[in-house]
Amino acid sequence: MSSESKIPVSTYFGAMTFDQKAMRARLPKEVFTALQGTIKAGKKITEEIAGVVAHGMKEWAMEKGATHYTHWFQPMTGSTAEKHDAFLSIDRDGTPIERFSGEQLIQGEPDASSFPSGGMRTTFEARGYTAWDPSSPAFLMKGGKDLTLCIPTVFISYNGEALDAKTPLLRSMDAVSKSSIRLLETLGVSGVSRVKTFAGCEQEYFLIDRKYYTERPDLVMCGRTLLGALPPKGQQLEDHYFGSIPDRVLEFMQDVEHELYLLGIPAKTRHNEVAPHQFEIAPIFEEANIAVDHNLLVMEVMKKIAEKKGFALLLAEKPFAGINGSGKHNNWSIGTDTGINLLDPGDTPEKNIQFLVFLVAVLGGIYKRADILRMSIASMGNDHRLGANEAPPAVVTVFLGELLERVLDAIESGKVDLKTEKQVLNLGLAQVPEVNKDYTDRNRTSPFAFTGNKFEFRAVGSSQAASVPNMVLNTLMAESVDQMADAILAKIKAGKERDSAILETLREQITATKAIRYQGDNYSEALQQYAKDNGLPNLKNTPQSLRVLLKKDVQDVFIKYGVLTAEETNSRLHIRLERYVKGIDIEARTLQLMLKTFVIPDVSEYQGDIGSSFNNLLAAAEAIGLSDKAIKSQADHLKKLAENLSTLIDLTGEFDEAVEKLETLDSEFDKADYCADVLLPFMVKVREVSDRLELMVDRSRWQLPTYSEMLFEH
Ligand code: ADP
Ligand code: MG
Repeated sequence: MSSESKIPVSTYFGAMTFDQKAMRARLPKEVFTALQGTIKAGKKITEEIAGVVAHGMKEWAMEKGATHYTHWFQPMTGSTAEKHDAFLSIDRDGTPIERFSGEQLIQGEPDASSFPSGGMRTTFEARGYTAWDPSSPAFLMKGGKDLTLCIPTVFISYNGEALDAKTPLLRSMDAVSKSSIRLLETLGVSGVSRVKTFAGCEQEYFLIDRKYYTERPDLVMCGRTLLGALPPKGQQLEDHYFGSIPDRVLEFMQDVEHELYLLGIPAKTRHNEVAPHQFEIAPIFEEANIAVDHNLLVMEVMKKIAEKKGFALLLAEKPFAGINGSGKHNNWSIGTDTGINLLDPGDTPEKNIQFLVFLVAVLGGIYKRADILRMSIASMGNDHRLGANEAPPAVVTVFLGELLERVLDAIESGKVDLKTEKQVLNLGLAQVPEVNKDYTDRNRTSPFAFTGNKFEFRAVGSSQAASVPNMVLNTLMAESVDQMADAILAKIKAGKERDSAILETLREQITATKAIRYQGDNYSEALQQYAKDNGLPNLKNTPQSLRVLLKKDVQDVFIKYGVLTAEETNSRLHIRLERYVKGIDIEARTLQLMLKTFVIPDVSEYQGDIGSSFNNLLAAAEAIGLSDKAIKSQADHLKKLAENLSTLIDLTGEFDEAVEKLETLDSEFDKADYCADVLLPFMVKVREVSDRLELMVDRSRWQLPTYSEMLFEH
């Protein structure tokens, strides 16, 4: 580790980013001021200053040792992409020179045809443009021997359509800001020019020894195990959680954190998770677009350092069947540019009302748009985790905690008018943060829990980019906030006093959205019944969830808030369906390969061993005086093995046919449904037989690393 780790983090935090400090040092004062203005207003930078900024950025990057630059962006595949170009160019007279122009800074031209557009572009206009998002600082990333200047960008088509996941997120942040300012004004709060959304992503992951990883085609190809018998220990004892972190892992974490600090990413907590070899890293929250960028970088940096340290990083939601899966708790809140967290209950009547209005707006948004929120976290990997009795279920409900429940009930029943200090104290709102800190941890089963001054969306998948869930949260919030403002204004217009108008609106909304509040155990059968009785969406898998995007009112809300055009929504639907089908196709083919080249040959060989040993035994039986009963026991043992192997061979044949059938289906939805309804259950069925055989076969004959080895050996 470098010597920097011995000095305080604050002295080198962000040293590899072209942050405020670097910009101030490198840019002429008027350009720096103009750029800050642009960033604050959430605008694109102008051509006039781009050249100067690019020059300053290049000089800074080259001094640190960078030779190349790249526009770093989030294609709709849910990860990040980059294409590197050298600063080097050759002058007209043949002299080599390092160049980086304003044009290169604000607009790159990746060959967009290699990224999915979901049908938005025809081939003759296959070009996409990447433009710097100045709210996210450029950074230097280590790769190979060198540093590369990475410029966070949005990715748009020739016609201005969003080809990435970031553009819609930025648009949704604008939408929620606009609506919230209007609601604040309705409440009598002025002087706010921007309402920001914040996110903090707690990232769970597994680390296993790299040698096991490379010996398992399923981990290499799919990121999760498709076969593997449960170890005798499992996680029944749960002794891992908050236990001491093994030294080798701790070193990994320290290296990761060091690199994250250089990149200006405020990594804060690290700990063991419930399952063996499972861990978590959480940063301090930031504005949502930055938090999303940073979470993507956290995943990237962890992957790189894991490799260096001889580990494999598993980000899949459910890498091991029967063992706890991984999620990404997306902590989310909204607040003003004047520093007020709108989800923080205050200690005066005014602040309390403001808090309650925004809290109830969240309830309204989730209630009305639970299906879109469910859709936002649907993925092949997350389907294995959601509702697996360890992760939030597919039904979205909100957990508020006992105290807030009482407060809302009191308002609904008309027992309070919230106007007097005394009433507020009686409600105990000032205690909410403390109470919730203790209380909500006890309801880990809720997918969407209020935790003192923020909501924690726990259903997000560990491997997912957080852009889509945050984009959806912001959009549903923008809509709900608008409806609150409309309702209050309508009552004022009808002659009500402002306070009564607010209280009445609160009361109406609390009643109307009651069904979304669920304080019980979300893993229980009772929730399923509750969802049914209350008409809450219960979308079991990805194809069902993605169908939400076909609904007109869903497309309309994205259009209304300028987040996604109908075309952009459709393109996302197609890309995600296609990814789902491709992903399961790859899993199915990997399983075929493993059955045919690992499991069946291994079991056959072992069967041969005990077959010959049985024959030898028969030949010697009389001489050694072996009883018929003893011979039968051995015969039964062999028979059981042979029968299971035959079943596996038969099932493999049937599975081959089932996999081939996928190709013959017409529509993408037919294919996706077939994957969910036929292929996945089939994979489970085949796996059961294989796992049974694993426990019958001599370990030295079994080529695949076992669960016990991967999870219990350090
Ligand atoms: P937990 O009890 O879930 O561990 P923490 O207080 O440790 O809660 O916070 C978890 C995550 O939530 C961290 O990333 C933290 O920065 C983030 N967080 C805290 N406050 C807010 C907020 N107001 N808005 C968004 N995220 C927040
Ligand atoms: Mg948490």
